[in-house]
Order: sequence, then C-alpha cells, then structure tokens
Amino acid sequence: MAENWYPIVGGGCTKCLACTIACPIGNLTMQNGQINLTDSKLCPQGCEACKTMCLYKVISMYDGTTESILAAFTGSCKCGCGGTH
Ligand code: SF4
Ligand code: SF4
Repeated sequence: MAENWYPIVGGGCTKCLACTIACPIGNLTMQNGQINLTDSKLCPQGCEACKTMCLYKVISMYDGTTESILAAFTGSCKCGCGGTH
C-alpha cells in the first residue's frame, strides 16, 4: 500500500473495463458510468497493471508530484516524450 501512488483516469476513457479486470485487488470499478478508484491508499507502490492494460493510454500514475497530476490532465509527461507516463 502507498500514500502517493495511484492511477488517474484521464479523458478519452472508452469504458472498456480492461483496467477493472487487470487490477489485482479489485480497486477499480465502474460506478455511475465512470471508472472509480475505491481507495487510493490500497495501490501497491509501483503497480501499473491498470495503466499497462489500458489500450487507449488514458491512465497516468500519480506519484506524489505535482508534475504527475499535470501530466494526467494535460496528456504530457515529465520526460517530455509526449506520452502520459
Ligand atoms: S495501480 Fe495497481 S492496485 Fe492500483 S488500481 Fe491500478 S492495477 Fe489496481
Ligand atoms: S482500460 Fe482505459 S479505456 Fe478501458 S475503462 Fe480503463 S481507463 Fe477506460
């Protein structure tokens, strides 16, 4: 479990549910038509199973930094490659 590690689902989610199936602890579910993270503190540090499974690349990982939040909502990344990791 980690305080500062959890996924952020950005725009463009197709509701394909792949991330909900990929999560080893069932921490992602569909709620009211949106992908919902049940408890951000339950994600093991470094887990990216949901992000890896998202074919649409709309999941970013929050890692405790402001940059990671900005990357999630702007679609840019810290390293400047233009991705969302
Ligand atoms: S980071 Fe891991 S534990 Fe957390 S929601 Fe994604 S797959 Fe589940
Ligand atoms: S895998 Fe990606 S596109 Fe599919 S429901 Fe999850 S966040 Fe949305």
